[in-house]
Amino acid sequence: MSGSRLHGKRVFITGAAQGIGFAIARACHREGAALYLCDIDGARLDTVGAELGGRSGKLDWGVADISDAEAIRGQVARATDTIGTVNALVNNAGVNVFAAPLEMTDEQWKRCFDINLNGAWNCSRALLPDMVEAGEGVILNIVSTHSFTIIPGTFPYPVAKHALLGLTKSLALEFAPQGVRVNAIAPGYVATQNVIDYWNSAPDAQAAKQRTLDLHPGGRIAQPEEIANAAVFMVSDECPFMNATCLTIDGGLSVLHHPA
Ligand code: NAD
Repeated sequence: MSGSRLHGKRVFITGAAQGIGFAIARACHREGAALYLCDIDGARLDTVGAELGGRSGKLDWGVADISDAEAIRGQVARATDTIGTVNALVNNAGVNVFAAPLEMTDEQWKRCFDINLNGAWNCSRALLPDMVEAGEGVILNIVSTHSFTIIPGTFPYPVAKHALLGLTKSLALEFAPQGVRVNAIAPGYVATQNVIDYWNSAPDAQAAKQRTLDLHPGGRIAQPEEIANAAVFMVSDECPFMNATCLTIDGGLSVLHHPA
């Protein structure tokens, strides 16, 4: 079913080649947005680009590492040429980096922050001038329930995700006078490769999966489309007063108070 809720939106999505990012791309495409898909995985980008209908004035894609500010500026220039001036950014790309704090290498710490925090800033910084000039724009950051809760053993990922939520709130207030809204979605567990890899890293993957499902009040985790449908709403003009907000989508998990 196709709609027009995002008619006139030109959306730049990072980490769009799979998982939540691709689900957001598919949902935005369905609602009439023009899209620029950015990912570090070129082969997969070509596949999903073809699945969405191929390059056109409403769809283009390019390969970049979001931690490389210059490469991102290049991607933004290309997006402007091919789909027009971008007026919505979805900072979705992110990676799990988990290490024992005192055994973690400097490279692990740097990678975690370069991608999960600096990447979103690189993209925001590259696109905000056009949004400010236009007097309108939307930035949506895909944060995590790790932005306000901690699972021991996942350091330093939640540190970066807390900071990404801080970036969301801070930019929201800095740019509200110029008509730019900055919000976040905090997914809990979503059925993507990310989570499968997490289960597979446990000694017994099946038991790890079951433990995760059992934690949830509804006995299941989210599908990527359930995040994507909320993203469409937050990128659209249906919620113009929504700013500096974080929408948690975790089936109620983060509200659950485990009995002693
Ligand atoms: P995923 O691993 O399935 O997909 C991530 C995509 O980002 C991939 O296509 C990958 O190639 C791309 N990417 C990774 N590093 C990149 C880089 N440096 N530059 C450009 N692209 C890069 O992940 P996902 O599960 O879909 O997660 C998407 C986002 O949602 C992440 O920010 C993640 O932290 C967040 N999140 C996921 C879950 C979950 O349960 N899956 C929960 C909460 C938050």
